[in-house]
Amino acid sequence: MTIEPGFGTKAVHAGQEPDPTTGAIMTPVYMTSTYVQESPGVHKGYEYSRTHNPTRTALEKNLAALEGGKHGLCFSSGLGATNTVLDLLAPGDHVVAGNDLYGGTYRIMKRVFERYGLTFTFTDTTDPSNVAAAIRKETKLLWIESPSNPLLRITDLAACASIAKARGVTTVVDNTFASPFLQQPISFGADIVLHSMTKYLGGHSDVVGGALVLNDDATAERLRFFQNAVGATPGPMDCFLVLRGTKTLHLRMERHCANAARIASWLAAHPKVSAVHYPGLASHPQHALAARQMRAFGGMVSFEVHGGLEASRRVAERVRLFALAESLGGVESLLDHPAIMTHASIPAEERRKAGLADGLLRLSVGVEDADDLVADLAAAIG
Ligand SMILES: *Cc1c(COP(=O)(O)O)cnc(C)c1O
Repeated sequence: MTIEPGFGTKAVHAGQEPDPTTGAIMTPVYMTSTYVQESPGVHKGYEYSRTHNPTRTALEKNLAALEGGKHGLCFSSGLGATNTVLDLLAPGDHVVAGNDLYGGTYRIMKRVFERYGLTFTFTDTTDPSNVAAAIRKETKLLWIESPSNPLLRITDLAACASIAKARGVTTVVDNTFASPFLQQPISFGADIVLHSMTKYLGGHSDVVGGALVLNDDATAERLRFFQNAVGATPGPMDCFLVLRGTKTLHLRMERHCANAARIASWLAAHPKVSAVHYPGLASHPQHALAARQMRAFGGMVSFEVHGGLEASRRVAERVRLFALAESLGGVESLLDHPAIMTHASIPAEERRKAGLADGLLRLSVGVEDADDLVADLAAAIG
């Protein structure tokens, strides 16, 4: 009987064999566009690097192992992965998606794919009955983000995936905010897991990439066709950087989570803070679900200060250790102002409907010392 290795062991080893020609322990960066064939059509499985590259293959296998899926596919960005999933659809098809999504996901749905005759319904997936009500006979995909961005709402993955499955709908879970260390959507019945590798998987804010992981062979083959036919594939150096990142994913996530938990409870007790959104707080509306579904509560925290937009702008200008920047999931702490920065592409009215206040601030809590991060926020909030 073989024993399934633990997460950390897979993070370090899955998909990675010492290089057969030299014994190099690290997967080489195969900087090549093409591969020599012995005779026309006779090759070692590699023909052209848009289609396959050995560094990418190593990463695809590593990610599949971490998400507990059979197939991994990597892309030049998270949105490249999103685009490729939406390529599975045809005019007339309908998608049900969360109403608290990554801004770029909303944008590609509304501004790119709606032009090709796809339709989208955005609903609050934290209540699975909204998902059931939004599914129509043309619905092909259910698109969930949990924790969501930026309000860190939690959706019951098992409940929603089973509603979708009963109606023949494919469930896609964007697992970027949790990372596979905290939550493995396939184990809850999701069909396709999506990642922006730019965030926790890469983990060092030095690479942009995306990934899909799934079990179904036929869907994987269709996705591989679109991956190659559309061509949003990552270069070997990018794949190498993400592979370096995933080796320490479990270590980094533990520190991100511990620091975020400390900051969330500190913020919750601060008189100038009017709301804190963190699934690890007992006051979070889906705290019990998060505790069931996730190993820990993640490194993202969002909050509001009294005084709305102007007060939040002042905090954003006054932080020193937290860098004012978009993105998340790197070792360094970042502060984002969603309404002005990452979520500006969502119309103000849609933002308000989704409960995203103009004065909301979002923290990507890094792996620095928690005391220093708290001191920085204390000085900025005043
Ligand atoms: C960043 C992000 C994306 C898009 O990924 P890119 O790598 O920036 O293209 C998708 N979903 C979530 C949740 C993200 O944070």
